[in-house]
Amino acid sequence: MTDRNRKPGLMTTAIHAGETPDETTGASAPAIHMSSTFVSDSVSGFSAHDLTDDSPFLYARWSNPTVAMLEAKIAALQGTEACLCTASGMAAATAIFLTFLSAGDHVIVSDVSYAGVAELARDTLPRLGIEVTTVNMSDLGALAAAVRPNTKLIHTESPVNPILRLTDLAAVSRIAHDAGALHSTDATFSSPLGMDTGALGVDLVMHSITKYIGGHGDAVGGAVAGRADLIRRMRLEAGIHHGGILSPFNAWLIARGAATLPLRMKAHAAGARAVAEWLETRPSVTRVIYPGLPSHPQHELAQRQMKTASSMIGFQVGSAAQGREIAQAMIEKLRIIHYAVSLGHHRSLVFWMETEGLMETSFRLSGAAAESYRAFAGEGIFRLSVGLEDAEDLIADLARVI
Ligand SMILES: *Cc1c(COP(=O)(O)O)cnc(C)c1O
Repeated sequence: MTDRNRKPGLMTTAIHAGETPDETTGASAPAIHMSSTFVSDSVSGFSAHDLTDDSPFLYARWSNPTVAMLEAKIAALQGTEACLCTASGMAAATAIFLTFLSAGDHVIVSDVSYAGVAELARDTLPRLGIEVTTVNMSDLGALAAAVRPNTKLIHTESPVNPILRLTDLAAVSRIAHDAGALHSTDATFSSPLGMDTGALGVDLVMHSITKYIGGHGDAVGGAVAGRADLIRRMRLEAGIHHGGILSPFNAWLIARGAATLPLRMKAHAAGARAVAEWLETRPSVTRVIYPGLPSHPQHELAQRQMKTASSMIGFQVGSAAQGREIAQAMIEKLRIIHYAVSLGHHRSLVFWMETEGLMETSFRLSGAAAESYRAFAGEGIFRLSVGLEDAEDLIADLARVI
């Protein structure tokens, strides 16, 4: 029987959420509203504190129709009440930290995370009087031991960039909530479709929408999705006061990408699986790390927590010298895969990250933390973002160098 009231599926949601045909022109596609200000039909207050969820548009730093369209789409895809878009993924991270932390508060972050977040937590937050502890988030005992009476936020990332180590997000949510803290997670590597973050108890989900959500490598942006009351606080603090908002043009480009996210994530995962399986057969490759393969050290957690294994692969080739040599060969010989940072684009991208260098600049790990890192990355890791090209072509391209 046809259920006329059925909840729209993921593909329908990705296309239609946040959009309606234009009431005045009938345009089927969403417009780009390149307007910084909006004409008022009433005499109203000017303070951001007057803002309510159904306030009319006033000024683009508060809200803009094209950005609001993308925010509604991302919230629908992530399954949250609301979303705030920001100028970049880093602006989304800053928005979380600076909205929910004050001098004297304590935050726990993963000891391995996106380098920008690691450096922000290490260098900037302490300068503002915020106490920071870094923890291997795959060690729940260590996390529980790090909680203090003033812990306000636990910030995780799963899978973690660049080593693809996973965090049991449901367990972290329980530890955070028992401590009266919020749990924010950076889900850039898995996309909004990769995990049911609501069921895992995550309060705030951030994305670099430069990556899978935009999906085409042509626009930088960020987003934080979560409960409406939390997002409202962030809009006031991070959007209106700190001002790191997304431009309507980027919002439009990224929304166009987001419309095909479910289809793309399926193709990304299928391509990545084929490439990862091939990499495992190469004698020069000493280790492949992909959450979709049984060889991932946390494959059981991956199956429990990830709805799609996404398309990020890490692999090792032996010594740092061998890694450097193959990275140089990639720059010279690859014809399809671009040797470049970033990820989640339709074009495949690869980048080599030498462990020693990353330890000096971003992570500064020692002892057990460094050992855990090396268990995934060895002396260096190739981070491969499998795009949407034919897997056979990507394999033929990689076969030129490994
Ligand atoms: C790229 C990235 C960021 C930062 O996003 P930008 O859009 O480059 O500012 C944060 N977290 C992860 C996991 C990323 O991959």
